[in-house]
Amino acid sequence: MKQPVLGCIADDFTGATDLANNLVRAGMRVVQAIGVPAQALDAAADAVVVALKSRTLPVAQAVEQSLSALRWLQAQGVQQVYFKYCSTFDSTEQGNIGPVTEALMDALAAQPGGDFSIATPAFPDNQRTVFKGHLFVGDVLLNESGMQNHPLTPMTDANLVRVLQRQCRRKVGLIDYKVVAQGEAAIRQRIAELRAQGVGVAVVDAISNDDLLRLGPALKGMPLVTAGSGVAIGLPANFGLAPSSAASELPPATGLQAVVSGSCSVATNRQVLNFIQSGRPALAIDPLRIVAKEAAGEDLAAEALAWAEPLLEQGPVLVYSSADPATVKSVQGQLGVDAAGALVERTLAAIARGLVARGVRQLVVAGGETSGACVQALNITQMKIGPQIDPGVPWCHAHSDMAPGTGLHLTLKSGNFGTDDFFGKAFTRLA
Ligand code: ADP
Repeated sequence: MKQPVLGCIADDFTGATDLANNLVRAGMRVVQAIGVPAQALDAAADAVVVALKSRTLPVAQAVEQSLSALRWLQAQGVQQVYFKYCSTFDSTEQGNIGPVTEALMDALAAQPGGDFSIATPAFPDNQRTVFKGHLFVGDVLLNESGMQNHPLTPMTDANLVRVLQRQCRRKVGLIDYKVVAQGEAAIRQRIAELRAQGVGVAVVDAISNDDLLRLGPALKGMPLVTAGSGVAIGLPANFGLAPSSAASELPPATGLQAVVSGSCSVATNRQVLNFIQSGRPALAIDPLRIVAKEAAGEDLAAEALAWAEPLLEQGPVLVYSSADPATVKSVQGQLGVDAAGALVERTLAAIARGLVARGVRQLVVAGGETSGACVQALNITQMKIGPQIDPGVPWCHAHSDMAPGTGLHLTLKSGNFGTDDFFGKAFTRLA
């Protein structure tokens, strides 16, 4: 089996899928691993993305997990490593972007060119541009985008050279838009200049997707690239790969269809409504009823599965806890935010498991945390990334002991992704 050429380490789950999706669209066959796998890669792939949950861990743990991912990727034979973080550069004064980058650089220092890396969260097609080192989200600077109020990683400075320098021992420099506009030779020359000045990591400007495509060739042979998901569009060509439908090929879809939704984001609430209005069967899960049932020694998941079972033969069913903000707030007020979240995640994951046990082989899961819980409940450790349904959301195929033989198709939709008709459209796209 041909070894993967690109090994990626993503600092969160849905970010990993976003990156994988870009790589597939640019022509790579991609497998996403959930955490650092205990075993070798079990499918042919040009790139592997290891999804960690390291974005807000204490620095030492984030570094340790990232190095463990690196060792696994090296054992699979990858030639280049890509550290993927959020397109809003989510981090604190302590890290984790800087410390993880430097730990990976230290580990790769012996490789030719291992003393230099780049950093850019730019993805202009997704409204993330970097200009003179400053990150813009849409039309406003990062620190005016709402990210300054993020509960865990408040971003109060849009100057990424400054932000990254606070997290790094190595000197941080800039490859600005004028250099990037001139293409590979100019970028390589600028890297040589920065190296001579003792710079170890350079923030790179990109104000259009063409900038990312111009940057790609200049990254050929660089042992470590650090970026959001945008830079990925320019890398497959370095390995002789061009966009092709073969990259996103999955085994044929089989079995029954279902949607499990624990996301309460605006887009998901619209998708739930759209599914109901299309006349398809949908069952709401009320967190307070989960508690009441548990108190009575009963199981709401079992009740939901009994509801779903006779309907599944006729087409997709939806089980959802999605609710409007006022309802969610009220539930959280009564149960506590974390307890409510965990309770719902546990119940929806049990329902996803029960649905697969009843023959569902095409599963849509809405919600980042909800997806994590469902994937874990289904014992899924590696997923092959398939065709995109909507930007950032591809179909995947995974093996699971819950779906012996065929495995199952699943798509993990984070909160605000997808058009209103996403739940119905997803199955049409797979067919
Ligand atoms: P998103 O991707 O939209 O952020 P997540 O699944 O990551 O969705 O997060 C939604 C969180 O809200 C989960 O922890 C989920 O269990 C919780 N949740 C879902 N429905 C409800 C509800 N009706 N009341 C309270 N919490 C809920």
